[in-house]
Amino acid sequence: IVWVAFLLDRSERLRRTGAAARTEADTDGLTRLANRRALDDAFERLWRGREEAPLAVLMLDLDHFKRFNDSFGHQAGDDVLRETARLLQAAVRPGDLAARYGGEEFVLLLPDADAAGAQLVGERVLEAFRANAWPRRPVTISIGAAVRQPGDTPGSLLQRADAALYRSKQDGRNRLTLAGPA
Ligand code: GH3
Ligand code: MG
Ligand code: MG
Repeated sequence: IVWVAFLLDRSERLRRTGAAARTEADTDGLTRLANRRALDDAFERLWRGREEAPLAVLMLDLDHFKRFNDSFGHQAGDDVLRETARLLQAAVRPGDLAARYGGEEFVLLLPDADAAGAQLVGERVLEAFRANAWPRRPVTISIGAAVRQPGDTPGSLLQRADAALYRSKQDGRNRLTLAGPA
């Protein structure tokens, strides 16, 4: 019974977050990742009544991407965004959600992940970028991570991840910063 309950709970989580077949309205046209709207829906589901469960958020932003576009053109930039989506999707587990947050910014939503889990995924992303065969020039990404604290809203959690991302940029980019407690 425990095993069945586990499977049901797991499949429910998969359905609700990453692995579910998304409609066009929930999908970013360029990268095919979840879009902002799908991310907001996922946040909503992960809050109502589940505020106590571990939850980690990674906010990611490509480094010096304006320069990349200026050097190689917008089409090549779009290729980088698609490749980024592929690497992010490969770095997370089923049940996690990889979303395009805006232009060259992405969010990873990791249900049941604590700070160590967030750090692991972030390091995995950095390593995937390092190891990838980028056709034009090496591409790097900066990451900020935060874990849900009591009293957090989706907005306050994202804000801490964003502040941590800003720190990663300040400290030289191509790195991960874990936000302190709220
Ligand atoms: P930083 O390391 O501080 O993040 O520098 P940056 O150049 O990446 O940041 P900035 O915000 O100055 O520039 C973002 C760039 O992302 C500029 C914009 O043209 C590009 N961008 C946003 N959306 C798209 C897109 O859909 N396709 C392409 N090719 N470029 C995009
Ligand atoms: Mg940006
Ligand atoms: Mg950027």
